[in-house]
Amino acid sequence: MRVDADALRADLGAVSRFGATPAGGVERLTFSDAHLAARAWFLDRARRAGLRTRVDPAGNHSAILGDGERTVMLGSHLDTVPNGGRFDGTLGVIAALNVLTAIAATGIELPVSLEAIDFTDEDGSLVGLLGSWALTGTLTRESLRAARGGREALLAGLERAGLREEGLWDARRDPATLAGYLELHIEQGPVLERAGAQIGIVTAIVGSRSLWLRFRGAAGHAGTTPMGERRDAGLAAAAFALAASDLVAREFPGAVATVGELRLQPGAFNVIPGLAELALEFRAGDAATLDRLEDALLARARREADARGVAVEVEPVGRWEPTPLDAGVCDVIEHAAARLGLRALRMRSGAGHDAQALAAVTAAGMVFVPSVGGVSHDPRELTSWEDCANGADVLLGAALALAGA
Ligand SMILES: [Zn+2]
Repeated sequence: MRVDADALRADLGAVSRFGATPAGGVERLTFSDAHLAARAWFLDRARRAGLRTRVDPAGNHSAILGDGERTVMLGSHLDTVPNGGRFDGTLGVIAALNVLTAIAATGIELPVSLEAIDFTDEDGSLVGLLGSWALTGTLTRESLRAARGGREALLAGLERAGLREEGLWDARRDPATLAGYLELHIEQGPVLERAGAQIGIVTAIVGSRSLWLRFRGAAGHAGTTPMGERRDAGLAAAAFALAASDLVAREFPGAVATVGELRLQPGAFNVIPGLAELALEFRAGDAATLDRLEDALLARARREADARGVAVEVEPVGRWEPTPLDAGVCDVIEHAAARLGLRALRMRSGAGHDAQALAAVTAAGMVFVPSVGGVSHDPRELTSWEDCANGADVLLGAALALAGA
């Protein structure tokens, strides 16, 4: 059994028209007109294919095949980042839908239901993973209060979509009703392309930590303070940024660290910076490595500060724990790829996905397909039609195996 590659391509083309940008990408911010139109198209397409549909109180849109008590879910998201690409999230939803239509066409009866689900707000113009957190019961009141797109935008968006904030809690599903979760997604990085592999089997979604480092030195006259007598907070921060990059590259293979923002105060041509605020984010595949990486980075920050007579303060901001995906589901995906004769590679995901929410409540796995040039979150985002179809076929094979067919 295969997914209809022509239908998959036609559906991807059809949904790409919603929020199409002149550069060839798409922009479908959560609950924007383009996003709501794409979701309406999804429901209509599912109904025309003879599938049942459902929209839950978190706005998650589903197409359902079968009426078993337990459900194997196949999902991803139709929302995008600003000025995004055509494949991120969309491929997973459209492939899931086509997996269901392929199975429906054979008329085989499965012991469980299959559900293709478009989660609300994965890419986070409002909250991030809003729909999958609500469905798994891991949504927190704090994430709604401090919505990263702003609380006003969240409330206005929910209203536009005909949803209520209090209703979000009702989207929770009893984990006992779930028989597994699979997500097909583009890799969004260069690993598969470089390795010449067609399928990525995601073993874990990396964890990340973010913090502010505040270097406090002494402001002073830029003309009269001799070079040897300065306590330049800006220099300490700059030296740290360079050292951190070297440190990670040399001692923490597979991990990444980024200085995403650097603010100097008072901020003038003629004043030595007395304060430097530096936004540091780092990611690794397991908690022990994250701990070691954090220790090493902070020790380095203190060393660069000490060397310049500068103090350093640390303010933790965010913490995402690494999420291992289910080992049994990884094997199922590997087997499905092998049966199709596809070259598969086990790898970690450096980006977050709905699968990390689902992994908390059910056996979850992810299938990656190559991103041309590793490009993502950009209109140039591209995955070949052949790779899209390969990924959909692996999703189909793995879904049948999880469904006990
Ligand atoms: Zn995505």
